[in-house]
Amino acid sequence: MKVRLFEIFTSVEGEGILYGTKTLFVRLAGCPFTCFYCDTKESLPLDSGTEYSIDEATKLIDSNLQNQTYKVNFTGGDPLIQHQAVAELAKHIQMKKIPTYLESSCFDIDRFNHVLPFIDIVKIEFKTKDSDFVDSEHYDKLISHTMKCLESSVTSKKTTFIKIVVSSKTQPTEFKKLVEDIFKIISKDNIHGFVIQPTYGISEPPLDLLLNLYDIVFPFYVDVKVVPQLHKFIGAP
Ligand code: SF4
Repeated sequence: MKVRLFEIFTSVEGEGILYGTKTLFVRLAGCPFTCFYCDTKESLPLDSGTEYSIDEATKLIDSNLQNQTYKVNFTGGDPLIQHQAVAELAKHIQMKKIPTYLESSCFDIDRFNHVLPFIDIVKIEFKTKDSDFVDSEHYDKLISHTMKCLESSVTSKKTTFIKIVVSSKTQPTEFKKLVEDIFKIISKDNIHGFVIQPTYGISEPPLDLLLNLYDIVFPFYVDVKVVPQLHKFIGAP
């Protein structure tokens, strides 16, 4: 089996519920989607990065793994594009007793379930319709897969949290429907966080919209947080 890696680097986690932790990021090449705010566009081509055997990739990860690393993130691109390789690499990390973390748009439940046994922390990212991730014709199917991934992660008792990126284009009525649907399949006690992440550098939402979206989540989950990408404030990758 081969894997295409775009880059490996250590930085400070700047997103989600574990921001501030020293993290090794393993960025896999490849993502066929089209979010307008994507900040890793150079890793989107399926032939970007460098191809390695799994053995070569595990050695590369080991040589980049610093002491006192809190967790290893599998990111992209979208890591589920190369789900079989991610499962092998995550298995290798788990043997070192370091938590593994999946950052994905969760677009395919079968690929997700293949990787899940080797992942400890799952960031379930729900895409809003205005993200341009897919066209409106395919949006409902995407959300159906993401919901199933959320259910699977919670049932498997993984540390699970939800992230939704919002922009000035985000429609509160559509956001509300998404939040209501999420809490039809899980309860507040099933998740470890709910993060609303404003876009950065393009189409940032104004404060009144952020507060409006916060207020929509609050009745379902009082610990909802608006968290921008903190690593960008310190110039970290
Ligand atoms: S899913 Fe992630 S990597 Fe793919 S286009 Fe959207 S933001 Fe970029």
